[in-house]
Amino acid sequence: MPRIAIVGAGQAGLQLALGLLAQGYPVTLTTNRTGEQIRSGKVMSSQCMFNTSLQTERDLGLNFWEQQCPAVEGIGLTVPHPELPGEQLFSWSARLDRYAQSVDQRLKMPVWMDEFVKRGGELVIADVGIAELESLTQSHDLVLLAAGKGEVVNQFAKDTERSQFSQPQRALALTYVQGMRPMSPFSRVAFNLIPGVGEYFVFPALTTNGPCEIMVFEGVPSGPMDCWQDIKTPEAHLAKSLELVRQYLPWEAERCQHLTLTDDQGFLSGRFTPMVRQPVLTLPSGRQVLGMADALVVNDPITGQGSNNAAKCSKVYLQAILEHGDQAFGQDWMEQTFEQYWDYARHVVAWTNSMLLPPPQHLLELLGAASQSLPLASAISNGFDDPRQFSPWWFDAQQCQAFIQEKRHARGLSAQPDHAA
Ligand SMILES: Cc1cc2nc3c(=O)[nH]c(=O)nc-3n(C[C@H](O)[C@H](O)[C@H](O)COP(=O)(O)OP(=O)(O)OC[C@H]3O[C@@H](n4cnc5c(N)ncnc54)[C@H](O)[C@@H]3O)c2cc1C
Repeated sequence: MPRIAIVGAGQAGLQLALGLLAQGYPVTLTTNRTGEQIRSGKVMSSQCMFNTSLQTERDLGLNFWEQQCPAVEGIGLTVPHPELPGEQLFSWSARLDRYAQSVDQRLKMPVWMDEFVKRGGELVIADVGIAELESLTQSHDLVLLAAGKGEVVNQFAKDTERSQFSQPQRALALTYVQGMRPMSPFSRVAFNLIPGVGEYFVFPALTTNGPCEIMVFEGVPSGPMDCWQDIKTPEAHLAKSLELVRQYLPWEAERCQHLTLTDDQGFLSGRFTPMVRQPVLTLPSGRQVLGMADALVVNDPITGQGSNNAAKCSKVYLQAILEHGDQAFGQDWMEQTFEQYWDYARHVVAWTNSMLLPPPQHLLELLGAASQSLPLASAISNGFDDPRQFSPWWFDAQQCQAFIQEKRHARGLSAQPDHAA
């Protein structure tokens, strides 16, 4: 059996490691933080995962929190009125065909790491750089680098053709809270697009001390929501979150009368550049390492796809490794394996990047039309589970018009009313 080494105990690395173990492969997983460090550290993501991705976890028996974790039953979108402060230009929501869920990575990853060891995997805690990769490629038949946004992934060359941006497109912040009034008649990712300012979305999740809601802020750089640099304490972070919601989104502020942070580590801010990298790293020795998930394709979180991509990438890679049997894992195989994943991921990248730019007229019309058409709202909402569905109508004005007409004539003329319980 080929010996496989994986670097990085995140969604991608752990899920692949556990999948390979289940097939009898000897697997070494090297990562730079212990389970305890992750559990007691800062939140890292909002990690909302949709049904197809959740199914990849169920298939491996890793859905330990499925019963406890609140379901995210739909998607909603509200755009504030540009001229009438406090009023909405439009608002709609639609149910997902199957629910989504978000389990705090601080809860999930340490348990998966324990599970990996319990199931016979070798877990090594070490910070991996070039020297360590050299040594892993000597002792293993295949080395995968799943180090997310870790510094080491910069060893992969940027793919300039596939990368649209050279700067961060949003100032990001997360606020994990309890005490928020739930949405009715179904729970949802409640998106709010504030033109020129940024986006705010919020949805239920499971954190280390029970159910919570995660507030995500996406501020346009240098705009009023790009405001986290000087905020250092949990109290100040929560206060700033509330201030923004009260200022721009009074209907969301109404839900936030009794908020507390989930814990002192339940907040985060930062920014990064969305990027696609070349999949294969050739080490000074000439031996090679294959990257996966965020290490190669890192998207802005605006569409909530990174953990979904990581799960789907691990599934593609697992299948490719199994199919390759005992043959050597050469550069061709590595590139082909990444291309299989890219064939999916390119759709996520195109759609996510489109959300970061000022929307063209046809998208404004599409999003507005969804408030008059439940089939349209439903198509947009369910696209989050598989963004390949957005092509071609999301990107092409003519196709978009035709799609709007088609959905308008479908059954179910008006979208769900959007209000808090
Ligand atoms: C603010 C924010 C909100 C988000 N919201 C969502 C969302 O709602 N839905 C969604 O699907 N995605 C979301 N994401 C993205 C998602 O969290 C990531 O895409 C996903 O975690 C990527 O998984 P990964 O396994 O590739 O990397 P990671 O989860 O980052 O894991 C990388 C692992 O590598 C380890 N590592 C790093 N460097 C080294 C090194 N040198 N040596 C050894 N180990 C190393 C790390 O400790 C970690 O264990 C969000 C991200 C952010 C920042």
